Amino acid sequence: MIRYVIVGGGVAGTTAAQNLRRLDPSAAVAILGDEPYPYYYRPKLWEFLAGTLEQSALLYRPPDWYASQKIDLRINTAVTAIQPKEHTLTLASGEALAYDRLLLATGACCFMPGVPGVHLPGVHVLRTLDDAAAMRAQAARSRRAVVIGGGLLGLETANALCALNLEVTVVEIVPHLLPRQLDREGAQFLQTRLESMGLRFITGARTAAVTGESAATGIRLEDGREVPGELILFSAGIVPNVDLARGAGIGVNKGILAGPSMQTGTEDIFAAGDAAEIEGRVYGLVIPAIEQARVASQNMAGAAPGVYPGTLPSATLKLMGMDLTSLGEATAEEAALTIRRVVDAKAQCYKKVVVRDGVLIGAILLNETETVPLLKQLIASKRDVSQVVDRLLDVTFDLKGFVAGK
Ligand SMILES: Cc1cc2nc3c(=O)[nH]c(=O)nc-3n(C[C@H](O)[C@H](O)[C@H](O)COP(=O)(O)OP(=O)(O)OC[C@H]3O[C@@H](n4cnc5c(N)ncnc54)[C@H](O)[C@@H]3O)c2cc1C
Repeated sequence: MIRYVIVGGGVAGTTAAQNLRRLDPSAAVAILGDEPYPYYYRPKLWEFLAGTLEQSALLYRPPDWYASQKIDLRINTAVTAIQPKEHTLTLASGEALAYDRLLLATGACCFMPGVPGVHLPGVHVLRTLDDAAAMRAQAARSRRAVVIGGGLLGLETANALCALNLEVTVVEIVPHLLPRQLDREGAQFLQTRLESMGLRFITGARTAAVTGESAATGIRLEDGREVPGELILFSAGIVPNVDLARGAGIGVNKGILAGPSMQTGTEDIFAAGDAAEIEGRVYGLVIPAIEQARVASQNMAGAAPGVYPGTLPSATLKLMGMDLTSLGEATAEEAALTIRRVVDAKAQCYKKVVVRDGVLIGAILLNETETVPLLKQLIASKRDVSQVVDRLLDVTFDLKGFVAGK
């Protein structure tokens, strides 16, 4: 009986386990996860933080699902070393475990800048359910919060903290919000809307220190300005968990290096999800994690060879009644690009398309959801749009018909 072992019980690890069970009903499938919970849905942590969702509602599968699938789930189980030649693992308990094929789905943790004061009580990151519970407790004894990082995660968390009646200031190092998803115009549009709803923003500012003696009292910016807050959240990006792989001599750069089959350079060891780096890219998103886990498990099981083709980066933000979608290379800025924008302040709507060599490569849609699937299809199809580029964002244009090839 072949033994599949998966390190990490997040979305990538759980998807792979489920797929392996389906592909190989007689195999032994084990998930080893160091958190004290089975797989829960991280994007719902905001609702848990805001107090609108119970902890039990975060779980993706009921706890008895694993046994029903004959998946040996071990929570509170950290893997501390891999011996690739022997095909064994060492657990934190000292126990050794043998595998035939191994998947590293170890995810990522939050990047914490090395500024003074980050270890003070009141300073938080948000990655795990335990992080969210700790933030909730802190929020209950705080009046003001400072969120460092104006990316998707930072803004969603700021929104959840607002729902808890905290005064929230978001500090972003880049001169505008959502630098990975929005251009300057779109970001200004979003910021104005969010300000009118009570959030405060300081952009183009670098955090120099967390202030306070025995607990955080705020932050100091490099220009000397101080922003008060009893709850400080660092939301400054992720760092893939690669130490386990590195210690075993598996190739690592930003993430664990994997080829299109999701196999690492080490025999019988695969990687998927936030921990994996493919063609220079760590995605840090749920959909790529699922797609990579499917390919990895398919190849682990020796089924028809699978290849991960990459995922079109697509991000959505739904806050305070605003709907933002950013697709593909939405913020590309080379001179040769054709860019079209539509701003409708009355309808609170901002739209942008980016075309390179006649092909649509990116789009931003703020408060406009109908055309999202159509533009996604157009980007994926790499079809020539040069004849219609001026009409793509026009509400009278039959985009649906064009996409359908009519
Ligand atoms: C608050 C929040 C909101 C998010 N919202 C979105 C969203 O809206 N859309 C989106 O696409 N993405 C979102 N993300 C990102 C998304 O959650 C991740 O892309 C996804 O969880 C990656 O899954 P994964 O299985 O690769 O890693 P993870 O979910 O991080 O799981 C990896 C698991 O492995 C464990 N582990 C690590 N090392 C070991 C070890 N040595 N031994 C045992 N276990 C180990 C970790 O503790 C963790 O439990 C959000 C993330 C957060 C934190």
